[in-house]
Amino acid sequence: MADYIEATNLKLSKKDMMTCTMCGFCKSVCPSFEGVGWDTGVARGRIILSYGLLTKDIPADDSVVEALYQCTTCKDCERRCPSKIKVVDVVERARKDLVEAGHMLPRHRKVADSVLAHGNPYGETRSVPEALGEKPRRARVGYFAGCTSAYRNPKIAQATISILKKLGEDYTVLNETCCGSVLARIGVSDDDIVKQMQRNVDAIKEQGVEEVLFSCAGCYRMFKEEYPKHVNVPFKVKHISEYLAEKELDMSRLEKRITYHDPCHLGRHSGVYNAPRQVLAKVPGVEFKEMPKSSAESRCCGGGGGVRSAFPELSEKIAGRRVDQAGSAEVLVTCCPFCVTNLRTGGEKIGSKVEICDLVELVEPLL
Ligand code: SF4
Ligand code: SF4
Repeated sequence: MADYIEATNLKLSKKDMMTCTMCGFCKSVCPSFEGVGWDTGVARGRIILSYGLLTKDIPADDSVVEALYQCTTCKDCERRCPSKIKVVDVVERARKDLVEAGHMLPRHRKVADSVLAHGNPYGETRSVPEALGEKPRRARVGYFAGCTSAYRNPKIAQATISILKKLGEDYTVLNETCCGSVLARIGVSDDDIVKQMQRNVDAIKEQGVEEVLFSCAGCYRMFKEEYPKHVNVPFKVKHISEYLAEKELDMSRLEKRITYHDPCHLGRHSGVYNAPRQVLAKVPGVEFKEMPKSSAESRCCGGGGGVRSAFPELSEKIAGRRVDQAGSAEVLVTCCPFCVTNLRTGGEKIGSKVEICDLVELVEPLL
């Protein structure tokens, strides 16, 4: 029997969905459309499906669920849309409605259950400070490592900590739990996300820090853009690239051709474009060249929006195309552990020789 759902969250996007003129401008930039090849895999297709869920003209069958979960929530379509439709809100509200109606993808169910049970999406039972071998204390600056750096890409967290030590910063790691980003992207209820937010804010307040630094673009976006909508955030938040851009850095020479990939969470979602470039400009000897699509026009790495966990092949395909745009660069730098991991996978798939690293991994040995 066809499954018509109660799409209560999508009601908030009704006007947006009705504003879509089907012009198709979004098609030219959508990374998932490049991989999927059907109109259901682009913003206007997702809008039609979402509107159909709302009006109960379209049932929540597997093809609809798949189309709505193959969006990386990169926001590039919003930049191109002449009608200024908030496409990511439409997609994320549709996902909330699907989850409320019992349509969570099995891979996402595992991730959500792990965050709710262990405070991280990876099923880890160690705390972040334990995983990093650090003791949390009171300090001026708190480093929020994020689950991916702490448990899956610890070189990025260790490089950040080492930079803070080398710069003589009064820092501490934080008694953190998952920032809630993954829950928000895959359609988990706001109640569960706000609980994660409040836990983090309370723990950070207890450590008395004035400023929280992030090396993960996704965690940073949550604290900068999403937390203030739900909880009081009584400390400054800064991405590590912004922190480093403000510092006098005495770095050794690095004679390499370097390019930079803007993470969607840091760029289009949080508006941080200059800081990482300013840090790279401080490295003596570097020959910097932008990728063909950069800053607000940057292409997504394909890893966001829960796509990497649910549709790894699509995610790798998008990542491979992005790595290919590095051209003749020797090093492709980015500012997010999730982008680093996904771009490396995509790079391997296309046999690329470009070295892919996080900004902190590049800077740390030069200080
Ligand atoms: S660019 Fe905007 S108005 Fe045009 S089809 Fe895409 S979502 Fe609709
Ligand atoms: S947010 Fe990105 S992946 Fe999703 S529809 Fe828009 S351009 Fe495509």
